[in-house]
Amino acid sequence: MKNLEIKDLSSWPVDVSTRPMVIAGPCSAETEEQVMDAARGIKAAGIPIFRAGIWKPRTRPNSFEGIGAKGLIWLQKVKEEFGLITATEVANARHVELALGAGVDILWIGARTTVNPFAVQEIADALRGHDIPVLVKNPINPDLELWMGAIERLHAVGLTRLAAIHRGFSTYQKLKYRNDPQWQIPIELKRRMPQLPIFCDPSHITGDRDLLEEIAQKSMDLNYEGLIIESHCKPEEAWSDAKQQLTPVALQELLANLVLRDPEAPNELVDNTLGELRHLIDDFDQKLLELLENRMQVAKTIGHYKKENNITVLQNKRWGSILEKSMEIGKKKGFSEQFINSLFKAIHQESINQQEEIMNS
Ligand code: PEP
Ligand code: MN
Repeated sequence: MKNLEIKDLSSWPVDVSTRPMVIAGPCSAETEEQVMDAARGIKAAGIPIFRAGIWKPRTRPNSFEGIGAKGLIWLQKVKEEFGLITATEVANARHVELALGAGVDILWIGARTTVNPFAVQEIADALRGHDIPVLVKNPINPDLELWMGAIERLHAVGLTRLAAIHRGFSTYQKLKYRNDPQWQIPIELKRRMPQLPIFCDPSHITGDRDLLEEIAQKSMDLNYEGLIIESHCKPEEAWSDAKQQLTPVALQELLANLVLRDPEAPNELVDNTLGELRHLIDDFDQKLLELLENRMQVAKTIGHYKKENNITVLQNKRWGSILEKSMEIGKKKGFSEQFINSLFKAIHQESINQQEEIMNS
């Protein structure tokens, strides 16, 4: 598919002279007072775009599912009183109609909606003819095609001010973060859609206000264009996502602590040094592939031998001991368990595939 024409952030109704572009505000609009208090704090923190969820896609029923359309009037007040740009989530055509009618400036599609092409198409159809900026959160499952598909559906109805939000991916296993970042997925999105601005959502990645800064910093080091962060004046009392929200003052401090590095080398010396180091990396990559090729030759020989002797491809005990030994050595070498685990699983899977081919030839 050819590159989509996506306008950069300078086409958005926001000043883009400072990086990152920040969207902040409460997870949910709860009461008029809470919304106005949060907006006052966000304005004072120098943040240009105010977010608040009006309709909340909650995992379980009987938790707070959003204040609904009356919250849109509060967002109008936020615009009038503080001159902030407003943003909210839409999950169906009715939401789009109401949000556009109330003059919301920016919309986003939530992770639970991006997974559903019918829902995304319904939203896209409702947006035809309105070139409002729309941000698309990654789907809750790690499926890049689904994420790209949602962006393509919006682009197909004429929207050109689009951006992605990386909010991490749901996992069954409890990890350090609420949602596993899987950084390779947004990096690959950027490779395939280079013009698409990417925002990081450290709130939904971490689920924990104490971890927001490390994720926000990492996203800046990966050249993300923006951040969307949940902020509430009384975070512990928030009706949704209480653990991950922080006060506007704490948010201002977090933003001030971020170190913003340059995506390009500042001078020739740095450029040359980087070039030399990259040559070394390229050499190592080449050697790694040659080693893997040699390893695979041996695996294939084993495959022929298993076939002749009528032995199954997989010997669980043997595989268990390879993984265990590699984990132990890898740990000593300073690699994370997760890295060794996925590296060896990928190598093992390829060996199995190649041996299967031999068995069935
Ligand atoms: C949100 O931003 O409030 C939200 C519901 O996020 P997500 O769709 O990422 O869960
Ligand atoms: Mn939330």
